[in-house]
Amino acid sequence: MDTRTFPGGVHAPHSKHRTEHNPIRKASDPASVVIPLHQHTGAPCEPLVKKGERVLVGQRIGDSKAAVSAPVHASVSGTVTAVEPRPQPVLCRDVMSVAIESDGLFEVDPSVKPAGDLDSLDAAELRRVIREAGIVGLGGAAFPTSVKVSPPAGKPIDVFLLNGAECEPYLTADHRLMVEEADLIVHGMRALMKATGVEKGIVCIEDNKPDAIEAMGKVIADFPNLSVVAVKTKYPQGGEKQLIVAVLGREVPPPPGLPLDVGVVVNNVGTAAAVATAIRTGMPLVERVLTVTGSLVKEPANLRARIGTTFEDLISQCGGLAGEPAKIIAGGPMMGIAQYTTAVPVVKGTSGILVLGKDEANLEEPSNCIRCGRCVRACPMLLMPLYIKTYAEASRWDLAERYSPTACIECGACAYECPARLPLVQWIKISKAELARAKGGK
Ligand code: SF4
Ligand code: SF4
Repeated sequence: MDTRTFPGGVHAPHSKHRTEHNPIRKASDPASVVIPLHQHTGAPCEPLVKKGERVLVGQRIGDSKAAVSAPVHASVSGTVTAVEPRPQPVLCRDVMSVAIESDGLFEVDPSVKPAGDLDSLDAAELRRVIREAGIVGLGGAAFPTSVKVSPPAGKPIDVFLLNGAECEPYLTADHRLMVEEADLIVHGMRALMKATGVEKGIVCIEDNKPDAIEAMGKVIADFPNLSVVAVKTKYPQGGEKQLIVAVLGREVPPPPGLPLDVGVVVNNVGTAAAVATAIRTGMPLVERVLTVTGSLVKEPANLRARIGTTFEDLISQCGGLAGEPAKIIAGGPMMGIAQYTTAVPVVKGTSGILVLGKDEANLEEPSNCIRCGRCVRACPMLLMPLYIKTYAEASRWDLAERYSPTACIECGACAYECPARLPLVQWIKISKAELARAKGGK
């Protein structure tokens, strides 16, 4: 099988060995959960429950009328103990959340019912099921899936890519899902394709996961319109734009260009599995598979955990820590978000919890740029990160803008390669925020 890729990128050590062969196990049910009402790209939800109210598994506890949003559901049955701002691990600030003390019964809400046979559901019904189930991209971006599969008129989509690249080091949740639940994923993929109105589907998997390529290949053999493509193991191969270039040779135009501008919709394998679950059982997105790993985690694992379970709880279910953490990260080491506490909850976009020791975490002090150009060679978006950083540091946003910071996908490849350990991505993020502010954004 040939392998394809994109220009730029880096070859970071995979560090997946600790969990890639560990079957997914169900995490113990939490005694209580904290469920943020803003855990997706778009508008936050308004609470639909009050303190003291009893809620059931799968019950909608937050929703929004905004076009880009996704409802939030209870992951346990029990009593609401608080509706108040609590820390959210992705947004890195307190957001309105619903705290629920579990009654241990896991009584399911009567609204949770199978949606029916895939052949009997039309595209509009599928989009409604996906929206009602609160499904968002589980690869980390958490963009509402119902919006993604509703391309505007005049933007015909001819290819659907299922993203099973899982290019972030350490993470193996998608890998295990493909090995263990290929049938569920393909069911969800077919549903997403039907919702989008697209015939041709391609499953894209990095070539360091031959067992996943084989498992997915076996299931899709029954569907002539589906195929599997092995892509090169290179970071960030799973970036939407990088995957589209690698597999289809199509270039997504610069921002505000989107994959749908080149006739493509991309969804993650975990998202497809969540869609299939919602269709088959009616259960909304109340749990997800994630990897808990890093050199300090005593028994690294791939866990299926209820949304709202704390990082602390899951780490202790993995044997606890072998020492003092140097860095705790929600997500992968390249694009994940550093945390100051493990008392934060798993949200829909939490693909992993990493606890890194001193040897693994990059704690070196930055030095001066030596103009080696490694950041430029690494950038998959063909940007010049060193210039953006230089002008941002001098608050010359007009000059920084000339180097297109808005095109940056914040993959961190430039910072990974930089021998001076310069915080390039942080400066690029600041540039983006400043330019948005200057144009009247927030
Ligand atoms: S500039 Fe942005 S897109 Fe390019 S390598 Fe750095 S983080 Fe990635
Ligand atoms: S990689 Fe670092 S040191 Fe080299 S040019 Fe880029 S910013 Fe400068």
